[in-house]
Amino acid sequence: MTKSKSTIKYKKLNGIAWVTMNRPEYNNAQNGKMTYDLDKAFKKAVDDDDIKVIVLNGNGKHFSAGHDIGTPGRDIDKSYDRKTMWYDHTDKKGGEFLYVREQEVYLNMCRRWRDIPKPTIAMVHGACVAGGCMLAWVCDLIIASSDAFFADPVVRMGIPGVEYFAHPYELNPRIAKEFLFLGERMSAARAYEMGMVNKVVDKSELKKVTNEMAEKIADMPRLGLTLTKQAINHVEDLQGKRNGMEAAFAWHHFSHAHNDLTTGNVLAGFDAKKMAKSQRKTKNKKSQKK
Ligand code: ZN
Repeated sequence: MTKSKSTIKYKKLNGIAWVTMNRPEYNNAQNGKMTYDLDKAFKKAVDDDDIKVIVLNGNGKHFSAGHDIGTPGRDIDKSYDRKTMWYDHTDKKGGEFLYVREQEVYLNMCRRWRDIPKPTIAMVHGACVAGGCMLAWVCDLIIASSDAFFADPVVRMGIPGVEYFAHPYELNPRIAKEFLFLGERMSAARAYEMGMVNKVVDKSELKKVTNEMAEKIADMPRLGLTLTKQAINHVEDLQGKRNGMEAAFAWHHFSHAHNDLTTGNVLAGFDAKKMAKSQRKTKNKKSQKK
């Protein structure tokens, strides 16, 4: 377990846990550390009987720029106290390294959070890109400010979408294909029209509206909320969400392996430098001279 400063801020107010991703200088790019800090925060909210609803949000200009692929805090070689039933990846070779890491850190952690037995709301502003979508999608409700946008541009790398493959559940299949084939930004307004987002509000109102909704939910009985969430998640799984995700994860890893074999880079064809730059806008100015 690392003792370094948490990448997550946690605040408790009127039965609501505010879980805030706090790497604003990297647009909340998700590294291993943030994954486990997030898990810790969610667990704290689950364990606290006073907490009825959890709100996930991001500090700074954006909700999340996705998985950390280029900040100085990138830590894919680091071992953490794992939370799902997977073995350590750090000393593994070939495809096993990434397959095992992504099973734990992306696929199974996301499923673990999706099944948190209390209602969760993603409060999204600015960019919500690739791995950022995974974090929003594991939440039960999504409230977005009008400046928010969603994108999963990984097809450009030859990869069929991010690891937590909820695309055809978040969007109808034809729109999910458009979302992935083009990799373009989907505005909050369109995401609302497509049913991916519950509400779009002006940025100045985002926190207020989210809080109002969370407080209304918090008035409902705890067990009623838990059972309702379980019932709906169960129906999604009966409709094939879990099985579909298993298959997509295998294809996802075939593409990582293919990229590695053909180019020596599991993220082939992607402008990693450009992406990395977008994840360290603020820091660059300060650390350029080093
Ligand atoms: Zn991957």
